[in-house]
Amino acid sequence: MVHSLLLKRIVMVLLVLFMGVVGTAVAADPVFHVADDGRIELGLKTFGNMTEYYRSAEFITQGRRCGAKPGKLTSMTSNIGVNNVADCSFSQTIIQQLYWPKQTYVIPIVFHVIHKTNGTGNIPDSRIYKQVEVLNEDYQALAGTLGEQGFNVHVRFELAGITRTANNRWFDDENEVDYKSALGWDQNRFLNIYVNTASGYLGYSTFPQESTGTVYDGVVVLYSACGGRNQGEAPYDQGRTLTHEIGHYLGLFHTFEGGCGLGYTEGDLIADTNPEKEAHFDCVATTSCGSPDPIHNYMDYTDDLCMWEFTSEQANRAVCGLLNYRAQAFHVDGGSAEGEIFVRHVTMELRKTKKGTYRARTVVVVRDEQGVVVPDAIVSVRWGGVLQGSDFATTNSRGRAVLLSSEAETPGTMTVIVTNVFKAEKYYNPHYAAIFSRVADAVSPTASSNQ
Ligand SMILES: [Zn+2]
Repeated sequence: MVHSLLLKRIVMVLLVLFMGVVGTAVAADPVFHVADDGRIELGLKTFGNMTEYYRSAEFITQGRRCGAKPGKLTSMTSNIGVNNVADCSFSQTIIQQLYWPKQTYVIPIVFHVIHKTNGTGNIPDSRIYKQVEVLNEDYQALAGTLGEQGFNVHVRFELAGITRTANNRWFDDENEVDYKSALGWDQNRFLNIYVNTASGYLGYSTFPQESTGTVYDGVVVLYSACGGRNQGEAPYDQGRTLTHEIGHYLGLFHTFEGGCGLGYTEGDLIADTNPEKEAHFDCVATTSCGSPDPIHNYMDYTDDLCMWEFTSEQANRAVCGLLNYRAQAFHVDGGSAEGEIFVRHVTMELRKTKKGTYRARTVVVVRDEQGVVVPDAIVSVRWGGVLQGSDFATTNSRGRAVLLSSEAETPGTMTVIVTNVFKAEKYYNPHYAAIFSRVADAVSPTASSNQ
């Protein structure tokens, strides 16, 4: 799946250098291929159909349920420079009031169907519509659907487009960078789904912490596992592969990540999912790490029909991932009338002055999508270091705030907080998310940390 052989080697070297871990499975994976007669080939093995492949020992032992791995893109960083990254990083989750989903976050989603020149994999529009319905049922735990038992993550997906491309190599998931470069829509603003063989995985996704806005960003899904309820081939025929992969796209780990690790800094970094020794296939209830395995969780490897929930803390981390790493990838649909909706934090480092002290100065301008200044946004600052003399000066006028730090003796980080104080009639403005994205643009760390 990953690009050329050379790039694979580079990735391996980086893995060794940065993580001290050799992901041998990546390099040793046998090649997956769908033959012209429809048979499934995995290395030297052949399967008559997808269900046979799904149920094979190879599928299970090679972990083909999902190819998403945090840290795979070690050499990359997110290009969104604003965030409270620490709230939902690769090493911890901080559950916060801020991230309890109150309104619905709407994510525009585009499907790029890559099929063989003989038509294999060219799934119809109707199946994509049904897949989007499944995502909405599962992410919003809609009553009367198979997803109703889960926690409502308050994320809705809006189909923005479908593209179709005939290319045998891309269908085989070769030249990932090429097809993503050619087909991908602005990765900051759209969730890109690439439908092909996904290298024989059901799917794989990037994580927001390492990929936002890069060409890699998005999800690759096996064509036979993409669709609505009872579409595709059992047991992965309920559309849950994308429910799972988009969980990664929002920053969720597998429930079995880190084995029996507990709490917010170990395992899957979530405390209300039971720890799990290893990935769980099929639907048979088991126990490990002293508790029942979370076989109904979307982030395990079980069959589509028995996975039906995100937990509340997974929802909190997913919303954190969206707000802090994917600020341009959603807008808000409706909302609750209580309190502030959310706060945008922008972090800047102080620069050293010639005198050897530290100082930051920046101007924050809050604008709406049309570029018009929003006068009723409030900008304030929080300081994480020791200051000499007075605190930060903040001047607010008509959406424009000038922030000037006094000098500090030690380096530190200044966090700019923009609070939404829209009045009731504006409270429901679906564009306010974009306003905060623009704040993010206005005070990127490099642009704003001059002395
Ligand atoms: Zn996964």
